[in-house]
Amino acid sequence: ILKVEHLNKFYGKRQVLFDINFDLKKGEVLTLLGPSGSGKSTLLETLNGLEDYQGGSIYFHGKKINPTPKEWQLLRQKIGMVFQSYDLFPNLTVMENILLAPVKVQKRNEDEVKKEALDLLKRVELDQYVDAYPRELSGGQKQRIAIVRALAMHPEVMLFDEVTASLDPEMVRGVLKIIQALSDKDHMTMIIVTHEMNFAAKIADEVLFLENGKIVEDTPGEEFFANPKTDRARAFLESMD
Ligand code: ATP
Ligand code: MG
Repeated sequence: ILKVEHLNKFYGKRQVLFDINFDLKKGEVLTLLGPSGSGKSTLLETLNGLEDYQGGSIYFHGKKINPTPKEWQLLRQKIGMVFQSYDLFPNLTVMENILLAPVKVQKRNEDEVKKEALDLLKRVELDQYVDAYPRELSGGQKQRIAIVRALAMHPEVMLFDEVTASLDPEMVRGVLKIIQALSDKDHMTMIIVTHEMNFAAKIADEVLFLENGKIVEDTPGEEFFANPKTDRARAFLESMD
């Protein structure tokens, strides 16, 4: 569904991604692991059109993406992203946050989207907060709303960049549970960057281990956590215990 070939990226003169290749199949969960600064966020951002790239190709459903703002604007409706900082609009209620893009950008029927939003909110156990403002919610609640908002666009792929990193430990579980259910129940295709190794081990079909902008290891999830191929990945896993 999403394929990357020989992707290179520079920030100015500095190269931060080197010859990245992978092929994400429908329903698959790819987990990106690697030390700080290895290029995980940058890679997700290129897959969502938030960052440009200087070589290589990205294919969506086998069609090469022409990296223009217009094409990315369309693709962003199909490739949803949730960040570490829950970027809800502070001046809009929970429901208004969720409705905004489906109604204004996708021109869908407001009543239908509302109904669907309520179902999604029930699923994340936040339906009592439809009229609340983001400032009235905890970090974990905001992050669950940010996920619902992305799902309301009917994406085919979801990208998660350390969505639990800024949460208190007791909030982390609820958010991870939602992502796990997206995989188990909805078979959502996802790329996940996380520092939660137990979660990664449970959810990852495939692991890409990055260091200094290069894929050091590309291994099926089970195998990666049981027996990584490279010393570098082994040392990383030991440091995370
Ligand atoms: P972390 O685990 O800390 O989030 P990461 O793997 O997500 O790290 P990136 O944020 O992708 O790493 O950064 C990769 C490299 O690109 C780093 O060396 C970083 O300094 C550099 N970089 C990131 N964003 C920019 C930017 N906007 N301008 C210039 N360099 C950047
Ligand atoms: Mg990052």
